[in-house]
Amino acid sequence: MVDYHMHSVLSDGKNTYEEMVQEAIAKGLDEIGFSDHVCLKRVEWAIRIEDIPVMTTQIMDLRLKYKDQIKIRYGIEVDYFPEYERELKNLIESIPVDYVIGSIHFIDDWNFDTDQSLYGKWTNDRLYEKYFRLVQQAAQSGLFDIIGHIDIIKKFRVYPESNQDQLFEDTIKIIKAHNLVVELNTGGMDRPCAEFTPSARLLELCFKHHVPVTLSSDAHRQVQIARHYESAIELLLQIGYTEIIGFNNRVRRIIRIPN
Ligand SMILES: [Zn+2]
Ligand SMILES: [Zn+2]
Repeated sequence: MVDYHMHSVLSDGKNTYEEMVQEAIAKGLDEIGFSDHVCLKRVEWAIRIEDIPVMTTQIMDLRLKYKDQIKIRYGIEVDYFPEYERELKNLIESIPVDYVIGSIHFIDDWNFDTDQSLYGKWTNDRLYEKYFRLVQQAAQSGLFDIIGHIDIIKKFRVYPESNQDQLFEDTIKIIKAHNLVVELNTGGMDRPCAEFTPSARLLELCFKHHVPVTLSSDAHRQVQIARHYESAIELLLQIGYTEIIGFNNRVRRIIRIPN
């Protein structure tokens, strides 16, 4: 199995890359991908842009050191800002990554997954629309391989007032048209929303529209690596998925889900 979304002390994680690698080996994973936060805005939870070469060196060294025990991929989790697509493109192209996760953590300047102050400014329906429009723009930008925690706007148990299937399906069709992968991120289970991102409903819609998925834990510490994988794999199989996607140098590989 793989875990494609993990953080280290270089962004907001609690363990070093090597500690994460050793734990992943102990848990029997075949392949992991790191994805520390890269953000054009200066925030304390992302690696500083000038430190990116350190991240590259550390991952390359560990990949060699542990090559007989586990495959180590180099990913980054990048904040999408519609007004900075050119800057994002230049930055991403300067890093020798295997894959790029595009995530929305900001609506305008509001970092909604760390700051709860603006919930209630709009109706939840309107908030969902604003959030998912950003996901759609991220998918259309061509910058990313994977859409990160696609419905993280629910993190603090904020849910739309009315059925949003139309908005979800429009978004998923755009993701499909632009050939992206969605991650089944199990981390949401340990957040206030207490469910995977995407939710089972959204994951069903992804399957309906033939959007491929990958699997990840959003681990910020060793113990969180591959968390809730048993139920995640059960859900994938139940919905109909038989394979997930891996990446090498931004090229996809199909991985059969063991059952
Ligand atoms: Zn994130
Ligand atoms: Zn993350």
